[in-house]
Amino acid sequence: MRIVILGAAESGVGAAVLAFKKGFDVFVSDMGNIKTQYKEILDRYGITWEENKHTEENILCADEIIKSPGIPDTAPMVIKASEAGIPIISEIEFAGRYTDAKMICITGSNGKTTTTSLIYHILKNAGYNVGLAGNIGRSLALQIAEGCNYTHYVIELSSFQLDNMYEFRANIAVLLNITPDHLDRYDNNMQNYTDSKMRIIQNQTEEDVFIYWADDPIIKEEIKKYKINSILCPFSILSKDGMAGYIYDETYTIEQPELFNMPQQSLSLHGKHNMYNSLAAGIATRFAGVSDAELKKSLADFEGVEHRLEKVAIVNGVHYINDSKATNVDACWYALESMETPTILIIGGKDKGNDYESIRELVMKKCAGIVYLGADNTKLHKFFDKLGIPTADTHSMKDCVAECVKMAKPGYSVLLSPCCASFDLFKNMEDRGEQFKKLVRSL
Ligand code: ADP
Repeated sequence: MRIVILGAAESGVGAAVLAFKKGFDVFVSDMGNIKTQYKEILDRYGITWEENKHTEENILCADEIIKSPGIPDTAPMVIKASEAGIPIISEIEFAGRYTDAKMICITGSNGKTTTTSLIYHILKNAGYNVGLAGNIGRSLALQIAEGCNYTHYVIELSSFQLDNMYEFRANIAVLLNITPDHLDRYDNNMQNYTDSKMRIIQNQTEEDVFIYWADDPIIKEEIKKYKINSILCPFSILSKDGMAGYIYDETYTIEQPELFNMPQQSLSLHGKHNMYNSLAAGIATRFAGVSDAELKKSLADFEGVEHRLEKVAIVNGVHYINDSKATNVDACWYALESMETPTILIIGGKDKGNDYESIRELVMKKCAGIVYLGADNTKLHKFFDKLGIPTADTHSMKDCVAECVKMAKPGYSVLLSPCCASFDLFKNMEDRGEQFKKLVRSL
């Protein structure tokens, strides 16, 4: 049986190694360059590969294709393969066939990495034999191929991965929220993107758990459309009625599967969005069997994730915060909402069709200045200049930090939460965050 893998990065190469070890005839094809580290792995196993092209005759003879999440369905080779009737699956779908580990899967438009990392931290601290996979960490397939015999996997799932998952079953599924993102990959149709996120519950049985944000207007409507078999665990910070987890009276409470509570102020993560993330993680790990004492400790000592509301330094009384991961308007909304001091907001980059209306009120309330940082700041000028807040126009991180220094007074915060992708001026969002941190630390 022949398996062809399209895309040779972390997930594709992992899938190739697992398929090879399971005795399939494997071929890997990438339209771009394959990184040396991945070529070395493929060569080590004697797996054939090609780069900078897709050779049709080597691909369309596949019995099954494993597609990397970065490749859209509109890619010509994917269209040809679907027309030829070849099943196209994701790496997680493939890898899931070869493990009995408990799968704890997290999806949502925002908060996936934070919640995934927090769940992993809690399970690891509690002594579980647990692996981290999906959009974060190492490929699930590679870990299974290498014989890691984890009893649990915590898996961050993007909508792109979910799109090509059919039989995979999440024992514990977490759906954090659904807000517009990546619509370019979904025919600009919000329902298509929503359907993709809802795939997290497909194949769940009554033994499984579905944890979701009860206050999300889209999720609220969607769950009415499905016959859900699993144990429903909604969480909220607005109400406690019928909730598996909530924050009420400044107390963090989990009710399912057993009562657990601790003071809200002892949680290590701050901000409204992180209350949701902490609730989801608490419910998931209690269902995984984590004890009261272990959960308390881990919720209090989690250090957060790099580039997500990361505290960088205090310089001349100004707090510098790196939230470079905020690549959409909703993420910036939550970052601003959590600010408790006058804020200089750094915003801009590669716009994904942003509508800034939803942050206008918070910007007016919290911002003492706005620094634009992008190759082209025209759209930002058009929207924010008229708000009557001081602004500055910059096209490099160096100039941007210099403008922030000029604007910020002691007691202020400088928040890099750009609402946009980074590819206009930076390699990626990590590069943007790192340049920011480096410059701040040298002030
Ligand atoms: P993802 O992996 O889904 O992109 P992250 O955990 O990396 O999410 O967080 C990205 C940004 O989204 C954070 O910087 C924060 O501003 C915002 N965010 C985090 N959690 C949530 C949430 N539950 N709801 C809305 N926004 C959130």
